Amino acid sequence: MASNTREAELKISSPTAEHITELLAAISKLQNRYHEVYQSELGIPSSLPSDYPHETSTILDALAYLSVSQGRPDSIALVLRINRNTQSVDIIASRNQDVPPASAVHLHQIWYFLRRLSNRYWEIYPNGTQETIVDREFRDISLKFAELCVRFSSKRLKEIIDSGFSDLMDVSAHIQDPGHAFYGFQDSIRTVRHMLSRDESTFADGDWRLLFFCILAIEKATDRLYKSGSIMAQELRQLWSLIRTGWLFRVRSIWESYDKLMKVTVSPQFRDIFNLQLNVHTISPETGKLSSIAESARQWEDVIEAALAYSNKYGDPRHTEPGVLDLSTIRSDTVYMAQEGVLRETVVHAEAKLLAAVEMSQQENPELPRVFTYISTTEPPCQGCDGFCRAFNITHGTTWKVQRWFEKACPSWAFPSELPRRDDILKATYNLLASDWAACYRGYLPKPASSYSDSAAESGGIGAVLDFYEDEAQNIMAKMMELRKDMEG
Ligand SMILES: [Zn+2]
Repeated sequence: MASNTREAELKISSPTAEHITELLAAISKLQNRYHEVYQSELGIPSSLPSDYPHETSTILDALAYLSVSQGRPDSIALVLRINRNTQSVDIIASRNQDVPPASAVHLHQIWYFLRRLSNRYWEIYPNGTQETIVDREFRDISLKFAELCVRFSSKRLKEIIDSGFSDLMDVSAHIQDPGHAFYGFQDSIRTVRHMLSRDESTFADGDWRLLFFCILAIEKATDRLYKSGSIMAQELRQLWSLIRTGWLFRVRSIWESYDKLMKVTVSPQFRDIFNLQLNVHTISPETGKLSSIAESARQWEDVIEAALAYSNKYGDPRHTEPGVLDLSTIRSDTVYMAQEGVLRETVVHAEAKLLAAVEMSQQENPELPRVFTYISTTEPPCQGCDGFCRAFNITHGTTWKVQRWFEKACPSWAFPSELPRRDDILKATYNLLASDWAACYRGYLPKPASSYSDSAAESGGIGAVLDFYEDEAQNIMAKMMELRKDMEG
């Protein structure tokens, strides 16, 4: 083995919740250093509970995007349960902080509009229709619904647009042709931003409708920009980087969510569901404080070493090959990691808290109908939540899913305090996070082949077989030497 590598020593045999937070803090620091993210394999559940129409996840996503009024810190997580016994639909909502009462009220208002639209549609088209809906009443309700959505989400939309606005303005410097589709797109964004910069108290009802149509104009301009075929061109690279980081997706999320909900109002599968009573339940947040966290480079090296040692011993070798520590990379990384401290305050993320609370209540009330096991969130789930969700499924044989996205680790992530079989899930979570990290971190190198037999010999089992092989090989070598002597003779 080269002198700058070393075997990872197993120092943690039974990881704690604090070890998970510390590992995520380490991963977060290194992701910031290398600008790397981790791509989840999760997504919409492949096998859906039979009681749920297949658009349920689409509806939940739309509701999650529409039920927050502020930007990123305000992400909400939602799950849905249909309870035929009580003729009700339960939406269970969770956030890193308290769920604002306004979000719960807004969900009720959205549901009211969905029911009115669905009922009106089936009243005029008892057999459904493939034609454009020409009914004036349906149109009026849909526009009132649009105004409601735009009014509630306007602050969030302004924050999103502002976060990429100067980059968007810079793009024009690289485009000579005034007829380029980009300019129509840029104008559509500027118009919406201009309206949103006005004081809301000066808005008349007609202004919210106008804003809605300005948002719709962004859709049309985006469509023209994509159809122009220039989206990947060199002069649009700044815009392309905004798209890659999800900016345009967020700008469009209000319109897209509204549009998806409008489509399900005419879906026969939801006809009776919209007429069920909606109950919105909220989950209390859970915060904590770490008793200690790594600070020095040496302590961060321990965190990195512990993860590899655990992955080597307990990880699935088909997923992550055993590795050794590359000391030169790790020493440089840990000096970087020690430059800034980590806050000790932690929070159980909305999606992890929601999963834990739903499963606990399900265990206490086994007669409750199963929820639809898809957690929808306004912002992409982090690596900790993704790992926790998979660990829960492995432990309990459940099918929980979160949105699919490029994920980052969050340094203040906390493991939920109450869970069925908590210790097993905790170990599985640490194992998954450590193994995922071991598979991609450049400070770990594949274990040289010779050290496989070294470590195997220590553990007995396979070593005994190899010892037998070695003995046999020596006998054969001796016989071959004799054979060669005979031949020479
Ligand atoms: Zn999270």
